[in-house]
Amino acid sequence: MFDTVLIANRGEIALRILRACRDLGLKTVAAHSEADAGLRHVALADRAICIGPAAATDSYLNIAEIITAAQLAGAGAIHPGYGFLSENAAFAGAVENAGLIFIGPSAAAIRTMGDKVSAKRTMIAAGVPCVAGSQGALPQDEQEVRAIAEAIGYPVIVKAAGGGGGRGMRIVREERALMEAVSMAVKEADRAFGNPQVYLEKFLEHPRHIEIQILADKHGRAVWLGERDCSMQRRHQKIIEEAPAPGIAREAIAEIGDLCASACLTIGYTGAGTFEFLHEDGRFSFIEMNTRVQVEHPVTELVTGIDIVREQIRIARGEPLSFSQEDVRIQGHAVECRINAENPYSFQPHPGRVERWTPPGGPGIRVESHLYSGYTVPPHYDSLVAKLLAHGATRAEAIRRMSGALGEMEAVGIATNAPLHGLLMEEPGFAAGGFDIHHLERLIEGGLLRGRGGNDG
Ligand code: ADP
Repeated sequence: MFDTVLIANRGEIALRILRACRDLGLKTVAAHSEADAGLRHVALADRAICIGPAAATDSYLNIAEIITAAQLAGAGAIHPGYGFLSENAAFAGAVENAGLIFIGPSAAAIRTMGDKVSAKRTMIAAGVPCVAGSQGALPQDEQEVRAIAEAIGYPVIVKAAGGGGGRGMRIVREERALMEAVSMAVKEADRAFGNPQVYLEKFLEHPRHIEIQILADKHGRAVWLGERDCSMQRRHQKIIEEAPAPGIAREAIAEIGDLCASACLTIGYTGAGTFEFLHEDGRFSFIEMNTRVQVEHPVTELVTGIDIVREQIRIARGEPLSFSQEDVRIQGHAVECRINAENPYSFQPHPGRVERWTPPGGPGIRVESHLYSGYTVPPHYDSLVAKLLAHGATRAEAIRRMSGALGEMEAVGIATNAPLHGLLMEEPGFAAGGFDIHHLERLIEGGLLRGRGGNDG
């Protein structure tokens, strides 16, 4: 079994993986780009290998280079983190073919669940409720496409089978806008994801985004670790996540959680994964599965006490889950704020040198970040620079702690969205809980940021 893990990622998640490996007594290899030689995990890893220039296509997306680095360094396993190649079935397959272990599900499971069209088909067969939509990818024939949209009922949303990161979606409210939206989406999907297939779904007007975290081992056991509410979004991108989801009956969550766990067994899914649902009028409807660890996984770790990254690695080593469903208990409430290096009012990225970094602390506070004083945030990658988490006995306590932590945090030299999070912690709709996925955009349209600098949002 492997004793060295190559970390094929960067930023906070690379550091998170390194720490989990250290906990398990495993050695680490940091595979990094030329722009990332100064990252914390590169300094802390047992070995560091530069895999190419700054551009992700030449480094973090370079399958051959990453596998060669693993072989060179004697790493028996590769952890892909999130983003980059983490949901790329060809990468998982190449890792398997090289005789290495991919810390994640099999290439076959990624192929089934990574494509949204095939994931929905699989979920319907497994008895998981899905958002109403086209049966599979849209056909070429215009009349057929119109008939499908008509049958679903407007408004509909055009989505890319290979989509991700909230990109490539178009809302269509009336028939005359349909065909143009479809053809634009096809072009965009082909360009962005290398897969031109698109499909239609009913556009839900006021859903919440609720997701179920699962872990499944290679011994036929799967558990679900409660839910996360990720409804605070801008442009379909999550910015605050919390657990548990306010106001949803535990029995309803348990019912959908059990369905997700048994779906894992049906698909032969192993590792960590997340089933994403929209929740509207008391009903859960599956939208997609993320076949990897997610940005917001620590929210679940805080309320369950289970280390998801450590479990991922243990599962990859062939070890059975160290606990059963009955052992999973939800304690208190956790909130996560995604701290991005961006102007909080215009949302423009704001990379640069961090002159001083002072992370917050105190009871119930957890910080996941690769920042340090003197570090330069490069312009080449995602703008996430820190995740601030607060855990409390109650939701109100967690929010109070988060407000304090946001006030304590200092990242002098770059702009961050901490002021926006600060405003949201005080916002009545957030305080009440149970808001829908359009809440933040409604607040921004209503003037939340007006007069605060940047453009008026
Ligand atoms: P991605 O993989 O790009 O994140 P998802 O399918 O997970 O795409 O959807 C991301 C977000 O887009 C959801 O959290 C939700 O806010 C919105 N969304 C997706 N499908 C629908 C739908 N059918 N109706 C309304 N909103 C949707």
